[in-house]
Amino acid sequence: MSAPSLVVPTAGRFLCRLNSSEATKENMAVGPTVVVPPKHLMAPSNANEVAASIEVARHELETAGTPGTPVTPPETLVTDKYAYAFDIDGVLIRGGRPIPEAVEAMKVLNGQNQYGIKVPYIFVTNGGGKTEQERCVQLSKQLEMEVSPGQFICGHTPMREMAERYSTVLVVGGEGEKCRHVAEGYGFKDVVTPGDIIKDNQDTTPFRKLTKEEYENSRVRNFSEVQIEAIFVFADSRDWASDQQIILDLLMSKNGRLGTRSETFDEGPPVFFSHNDVVWSTSHDLTRIGMGALRVSLEAMFKAVTGKNLETTAFGKPQIGTFQFATRLLQQWRKDTHGIDSPPDTVYFVGDTPESDIRGANEFDKCVDNNWYSILVRTGVFQEGTKPRFQPKATVDNVLEAVKHGMEREYRKALKASLIDVDMVRGSAIEE
Ligand SMILES: [Mg+2]
Repeated sequence: MSAPSLVVPTAGRFLCRLNSSEATKENMAVGPTVVVPPKHLMAPSNANEVAASIEVARHELETAGTPGTPVTPPETLVTDKYAYAFDIDGVLIRGGRPIPEAVEAMKVLNGQNQYGIKVPYIFVTNGGGKTEQERCVQLSKQLEMEVSPGQFICGHTPMREMAERYSTVLVVGGEGEKCRHVAEGYGFKDVVTPGDIIKDNQDTTPFRKLTKEEYENSRVRNFSEVQIEAIFVFADSRDWASDQQIILDLLMSKNGRLGTRSETFDEGPPVFFSHNDVVWSTSHDLTRIGMGALRVSLEAMFKAVTGKNLETTAFGKPQIGTFQFATRLLQQWRKDTHGIDSPPDTVYFVGDTPESDIRGANEFDKCVDNNWYSILVRTGVFQEGTKPRFQPKATVDNVLEAVKHGMEREYRKALKASLIDVDMVRGSAIEE
């Protein structure tokens, strides 16, 4: 493997530039990283500056408490007035492939526009089952541009903070062992999967047998001695029947011990979902059911079996925590690059799901000082001819139109402000 190249980023820290076809979890864990398509390895493209500066800001945010070196803001073409936040599925990617206009939209933000500026951007996704690093490598390959893990906020990002609170946890969803690894990477000390439980007692799920590979990957435990303190649904379940059976067993247990039954049905562990999207956009023509549907189903089943209501918690969009984290990141970035300790005046949030993207951006807009301007695209969940339950500020055909819409709006705002300035100067000249 070739050695990663090092460049000095804007904030004066060393930054790793890793080839997207060679980037691994291990070499990305070393420090601030930008993932680079092979064709841009030797000469950074226009996308490098934003990817690198947001990565540095993210590292500063997550290592808060360590005083950094004061930074002199460099000369830059990147505006600090506004920024973009993109949902990924249905906006940039659909069914594993880039939406045709997405590549062009990124070029426009990275300087190929008539205004002579670059615009910063981040990605805010509910899609789970992968670390921020893995999503970054994937998107860098799909869009063929430089992207940094710091630019990603995933639905399960806030679960990182729960690792302090819970020791033994059940992690549900995703392919194979991936979510166990994501959870362990987040600092969870003892991670159990449904596979471990079926391996210990295969009568748990009468119609489900582990494959040879699953059996080998699953860990040997004696669950009569294990207390599961919390349940985390990190990604979409690959086997609803077994996963729901196991979750239900735990919810009805005494203090998270499998094989026991609570008499009151309120002694089970809490259950957390990394997001609440009921449907999502894939390569199929029609939307497919997702994690939010599993949540609804589980709550209904719990009610049917116990007669009681089940309280569950979901992270991701539209929950406020995701938007607060995005704001903190953009504020840190603006401070580093422009010396201004407040978030950009406007954040354009581009999404395809009214219930999570548009609702979240609109509700957050009402409770903060800066503006969150929601833009709905027609390339994903939302289809023309239906009325979205949550109204965006603008509806456009695709992500390129969304980018143009915001940039034109900002240009008109700046033009209007400069005309007002000119009028004021003229006015004061006449008074004199
Ligand atoms: Mg989406």
